[in-house]
Amino acid sequence: MSTPHQYRIIPRDPGAHLFEVTVTVAKPDPAGQVFSIAAWVPGSYLIRDLSRHVVAIRASTEGQEIALTKIDKSSWQADACEAAITLTAEIHAYDLNVRGAHLDTTHGFFDGACMFPAVVGQEDHPCRVEILPPVGLAGNEWRVATSMKVVDAEQYGFGTFSASDYADLIDHPVEMGNLLIGEFEACGIPHTIAVRGHAHFDMARICHDLSTLCTYQLQLLGIPKNLDRYVFLLYVQNDVYGGLEHGWSSSLACSRRNLPGRGDAGVSAKYRRFLGLCSHEYFHLWHVKRIKPAKFTPCDLRAEIHTGLLWVFEGITSYYDHLVLVRCGLITTTSYLEHVAKSITRLARTRGRLRQSIEESSFDAWSRFYRQDANSSNAIVSYYTKGALVALALDLTLRKESDGRCTLDDVMRECWSIWGESGEGMPERGLETVARAVSGLELADFFERYVRGTTELPLQGLLKEVGVNLRMRAATGRKDTGGSPEAEGNTPPPWIGATLADRAGSSRFRVVHSGSPAEEAGIAPGDVAVALDDLTLNAANLDERLREHHVGDTVTVAAFRDEHLMRFSVKLSAPPEDTCDLKLDGNPDSRTETMRSAWLSGD
Ligand SMILES: [Zn+2]
Repeated sequence: MSTPHQYRIIPRDPGAHLFEVTVTVAKPDPAGQVFSIAAWVPGSYLIRDLSRHVVAIRASTEGQEIALTKIDKSSWQADACEAAITLTAEIHAYDLNVRGAHLDTTHGFFDGACMFPAVVGQEDHPCRVEILPPVGLAGNEWRVATSMKVVDAEQYGFGTFSASDYADLIDHPVEMGNLLIGEFEACGIPHTIAVRGHAHFDMARICHDLSTLCTYQLQLLGIPKNLDRYVFLLYVQNDVYGGLEHGWSSSLACSRRNLPGRGDAGVSAKYRRFLGLCSHEYFHLWHVKRIKPAKFTPCDLRAEIHTGLLWVFEGITSYYDHLVLVRCGLITTTSYLEHVAKSITRLARTRGRLRQSIEESSFDAWSRFYRQDANSSNAIVSYYTKGALVALALDLTLRKESDGRCTLDDVMRECWSIWGESGEGMPERGLETVARAVSGLELADFFERYVRGTTELPLQGLLKEVGVNLRMRAATGRKDTGGSPEAEGNTPPPWIGATLADRAGSSRFRVVHSGSPAEEAGIAPGDVAVALDDLTLNAANLDERLREHHVGDTVTVAAFRDEHLMRFSVKLSAPPEDTCDLKLDGNPDSRTETMRSAWLSGD
């Protein structure tokens, strides 16, 4: 067996946000050992050039410093030497992001890709990691939460950990600080949730609910052989939301408003969102961490890897994240349908759905989805939002065409049995092949239209088959995101086709929809709104101003572009029916009722 690389992490200077990381290589490359730092973080398809956070780096052997030459933006080569070599780097950590690294006097967090230099050519060696307490914070009560395997450390303590190779090393984010810890079991496997941030919430309830949803997922797809523990790392702040999946853990961030208070009953839309986030990242434990796109095996973190499959891994995961909640009884059917209706609304308001397929959106994630600008909504489509609705359409198509014999669950179980633990990845057309094989249906048309094409999804007809009525209507105002019938008497205002957002004391046009009255009049994203027909105009009163007019009226919008006051003549049109409500059919026939119950119960 190869000699393990010895890593050590020290929160060297919390006040200056500096971690020190060292790695000692027993048998360096005789031609001069190369070390590199990842350009991107697995699960997040953006070149981040993490090496830019390295503020100092040096190498030594037998106590003597040796030359280290930077050979490209992310790599360094040490002078040739025969004895063990130690690389020491100081890394600035002030990125409060689930994919980043952050250190201050209150806590430390890092994603492994940000922190551990790879020993190039020896990435398959096992690793030992010593994680030391912060320097200069006497009397601190920091604890450590990570899914990394413990070699020598007390529970939630500093100490020594291990990883089987470099890919495993960077798959266990580490949180350290004053942590609130909750523990529970799912299918006999110990699970932990470690929370950082000022929040008062009902930990017992969260543990109970997470246990319910984790147990359901473990039973749905089968317990991975190597899953002997799982850790949710949660950072709670005022206004954050996001997550990143790992094989034995996930990094989550949410607002304290997403968490249930002690004594709260029911599941609010905000708590549903939190449960959906946990459910999403947990589903990834199978779907992207163990079943992977073939293009990610092996995974080169120095440059982009293009695959048309991100919609499969993010879209199907986004479909299941809330479906699981209704199936295991954590949310009601009404609450689930509200969530789906909001997704349909989001897609209907994205004009880019008519320009870009989800396969293209996946392939171009690096340069388009992860680098959005004011025109994105007109030009691209989210492989999460549309991917989840394509998964819904595929599930309902399989159920309908096979008379309920075959479902997306069957397809997912087959994907798991083929690629879950084989070490091989899913080929680009892998899902399609499996779906056709499992169902015996000819699905080429489905994939051609909805995955590789931009044909509108046939959701109205498919939902009808499971006794759900889909209705599209005009929005009643900027806060109307679909999912519930419009308030009575709240008529939709005429359409200008642009949104306003408040920033730094002014309201700016944010999205100007293609083909809209605003676009035709010449209004552009970034213009600072001043007035509509000589009355003040801002994000809060736009709906009210528009409601004073009728479809077909021409109004004058005044706005600053840079320092120049401009006037636009805008002819208001009828609002598009881009808002969705879903309602259960109160009187389904018995076939419909059976299909609906099978879909929502998973039985
Ligand atoms: Zn995801």
